[in-house]
Amino acid sequence: MIDYLKYERIMRDFEVSNLGYLKQNNVSKRLYTCVLGLLVGTWLNGCTSQPTPTKLDTNTTINPTGASGRSGKKVILTTFTVLADMAQNVAGDKAIVESITKPGSEIHGYEPTPSDLARGQGADLILDNGLNLERWADRFYNSFPRVPHLTLSDGVKPVEISENSYQGKPNPHAWMSPQNAVIYVENIRKALVNIDAPNAVTYNKNAATYSDQIKAIDIKLKTAIATIPPEKRYMVSCEGAFSYITRDYGLKEVYIWPVNAEQLATPKQVEKVINTVKENKIPAVFCESTVSDKAQQQVAKETGAKFAGVFYVDSLSPADGPASTYLKLLEYNVNTLTNGLKSN
Ligand SMILES: [Zn+2]
Repeated sequence: MIDYLKYERIMRDFEVSNLGYLKQNNVSKRLYTCVLGLLVGTWLNGCTSQPTPTKLDTNTTINPTGASGRSGKKVILTTFTVLADMAQNVAGDKAIVESITKPGSEIHGYEPTPSDLARGQGADLILDNGLNLERWADRFYNSFPRVPHLTLSDGVKPVEISENSYQGKPNPHAWMSPQNAVIYVENIRKALVNIDAPNAVTYNKNAATYSDQIKAIDIKLKTAIATIPPEKRYMVSCEGAFSYITRDYGLKEVYIWPVNAEQLATPKQVEKVINTVKENKIPAVFCESTVSDKAQQQVAKETGAKFAGVFYVDSLSPADGPASTYLKLLEYNVNTLTNGLKSN
């Protein structure tokens, strides 16, 4: 088993003492990462020949070679905070669950750090969303092919993106539908039972309780959205991350860009939203917590719509924020939407 603190210290010290030199001398990031990896015996993409990463098969019992570290509990890593909260609800106190990305991180194009690699190496299981959300995941997994990973959106019916170069590709934000979240929870339950059978009773019980809570929220959201006058039922956001919610609750979806990417909003994208908001007299527009709201503020300014708040999608809020759990996130978004649309 890897000693986390020692490993991270080695990484940090090496980084501090060598990064400047490597940068100055135009050593590529990949080579730099290889050097780091080799220093501590980690496999990294392109450094050496690699075994194929392990996809967890929840139909067979396996005995992963992971860490089972810290208190003898299994260590579960997730790619982002929403999945960590879901997994924690199923795991209870029987496993350690951590998110690779921190609250507020942009997750689509995230670049794993040396300490993320150390944590991945020490995990018993990694849970991701899939549907092309984590564009960095395959490269990440190649660094520790013996740690099993599971895609939680398996079994979800994807909604396709309808425009630009993403046309026809699945919208990755499937967790935003409570109906899909129940599928995620079942996948988490199976995975935990699979890697930690002695605690199966607890995982089964926790998963059932949590699924009931998700179903209860689903009904609550439906009731809240029903109070919005039908002609105002638009969800205007920055990223097209709400296709599953708008599908579930009969809302119309309007967004500036389809998927968070490196580029900023183009004038054409902004103009299209401005026209849609004007034509349909949409009273309120919104943006997400992990991206700049500049373009949406411009939409508000030019249309007279109110910029009525922030949605949480790709990340939970910090613990003291309004969306510190998945269930709170769902409620907060719909309350923000409802209040914004009804107050104007
Ligand atoms: Zn997103």
